Amino acid sequence: MRKPFVAGNWKMNTDSHTSISLAESIVSGSLETAGQSVSVAVCPPFVYLQAVAKALSASSIAVGAQDIYIESQGAFTGEISASMLKDIGCTYALCGHSERRHVLGETDELINKKVTAAIGGGLLPILCVGELLAEREASRTNEVVTRQIKNCLAGLSIEKVSAVTIAYEPVWAIGTGLTATPQQAQEAHDFVRKLLLQMYDAQLAEEIRILYGGSVKPGNAGDLMAEQDIDGLLVGGASLSADDFIAIIQAAA
Ligand code: PEP
Repeated sequence: MRKPFVAGNWKMNTDSHTSISLAESIVSGSLETAGQSVSVAVCPPFVYLQAVAKALSASSIAVGAQDIYIESQGAFTGEISASMLKDIGCTYALCGHSERRHVLGETDELINKKVTAAIGGGLLPILCVGELLAEREASRTNEVVTRQIKNCLAGLSIEKVSAVTIAYEPVWAIGTGLTATPQQAQEAHDFVRKLLLQMYDAQLAEEIRILYGGSVKPGNAGDLMAEQDIDGLLVGGASLSADDFIAIIQAAA
């Protein structure tokens, strides 16, 4: 039985005051009930991570990083390692978010190193995959997702892969207001689970959580979560409103 998981990606938003007030509102508005039955995480910008982790420390809400670097320490100006993130209270790290792939040029090979570094540093990676609109229109969704998953998990043992959450996020649905229909999302999630079954074993495929992301809102969260292979939601824009984020958590409960 997979426990639902809702993660909020704040991207490059909030400031030193609003990051804390958003975290506090999420704690106070949620989750005596939903909090028990849903895993919840928020991913603030790096500079506010420690303060947000502190604001959430008495709650069951976890903190995640939006990215990590592949090395653990050294002369890598501007980068942040998994061990640093672990040190300040992070539990999760997004790896291969579509904005990092398509705006910042990250490759599957780099993302594979990030997933590996996250696990090595004691973080739980959330590996993001998903196709561009042109790829969906050319019926290449399964091919793209297969390539991303195989490349990004290359070289990891089954034990290590069991630390990973997959987020299926069609690029055309991120920040656009276009959401995959529950049926489109379910089809992709079912495909990913069967791919993981082929790559690993039945237990891993059954237990791994596969989140959907792409313009999730309170109004569509329930229908998405009703699908059999959608185990949770990765939420961008709507996670910046405590009310919307809490409504999404409740829809996932
Ligand atoms: C995301 O950032 O992963 C995301 C899905 O964004 P949005 O919900 O705004 O589409």
